[in-house]
Amino acid sequence: MGAHSPGPLVRVRNLVKHYDTRRGLFGRLTGRAGVLVKALNDVSFDVGRGETLGLIGESGCGKSTLGRAVLRLHEPTSGRVEFGGEDVTALDADALKEMRRKMQIIFQDPYASLNPRRTVAEIVGLPLKLHGLARNRRELRDKTAAIVENVGLKTAHLDRFPHQFSGGQRQRIGIARALILNPDFIVCDEPVSALDVSIQAQIVQLLSDLKREMGLTYLFISHDIAVIGYVSDRVAVMYLGEIVEMGPAEAVLERARHPYTQSLLSAVPEIDRPGRRRHVALRGDLPSPLSPPPGCKFHTRCPLATDICRTVAPKPTAVGPDHTAACHLVENNVELAS
Ligand code: SF4
Repeated sequence: MGAHSPGPLVRVRNLVKHYDTRRGLFGRLTGRAGVLVKALNDVSFDVGRGETLGLIGESGCGKSTLGRAVLRLHEPTSGRVEFGGEDVTALDADALKEMRRKMQIIFQDPYASLNPRRTVAEIVGLPLKLHGLARNRRELRDKTAAIVENVGLKTAHLDRFPHQFSGGQRQRIGIARALILNPDFIVCDEPVSALDVSIQAQIVQLLSDLKREMGLTYLFISHDIAVIGYVSDRVAVMYLGEIVEMGPAEAVLERARHPYTQSLLSAVPEIDRPGRRRHVALRGDLPSPLSPPPGCKFHTRCPLATDICRTVAPKPTAVGPDHTAACHLVENNVELAS
């Protein structure tokens, strides 16, 4: 099987990622040595070919960990990731390297992810060299120049260094590096949140254009609902390492059923529609993944919580075509969208 086999391009099942802080993998949380950080808890979803699945949630909810675990940049604790029907979690190092040609990532901070001592030509062309996909220097240069032009830069930029570019241009360099191997799937990890607002729309538009031109599939991670609403075919809402609502973008953003999704939407005036959705104010901070609350993890902040929410975890329940929400009120068929 491979990237052209039938079925979803990416299939994630029961993915779990726990960090033992004694190993120092989660530097900012190491104050209490030996504590298990439950970063991802039983996450399952598909991404169809040519689709953009938007992943939204507050900072620290596990979105980036999920993106990296799907690509095995973070090794999952358990669960399965399939790409084109092939079990990515079972690949050895050589097979994983080969698979990485097809699965790439665009990082949030373009400057931090670009080597300041390398030219654009070296940064963007490096994956071609590592995979032995250029027969000589001329071919390497030509392929690099072509992709650099594809993302809106000029061949004259090839011999410049990252510090000579604006934030938006640096992100274009990061995008070129992700595209040079002609991948099928890209994890876009908050690709515009480090950029000036005036530049964000340009980069979002570029990613949309490239997706269409190159037949790409995206897992698009953002905390910005407006961005997610613009780019996504389907949306998954994440809270403390779990997907609490998932469905077609229009259904999730217009007819959200989970109180957490409703609270995220309530905080965005321009896409809030009074009268069509209950206003759910988001109280307090995200609890620590070191000691997540029992039952529904959202119960410490949910204005609709009842006794059962404090002890029993709700299961995803169908609330519409391809639309699920994990909430006891939904399970009990209480109408949340007033
Ligand atoms: Fe709120 Fe309870 Fe639903 Fe969780 S299960 S979102 S606490 S009402």
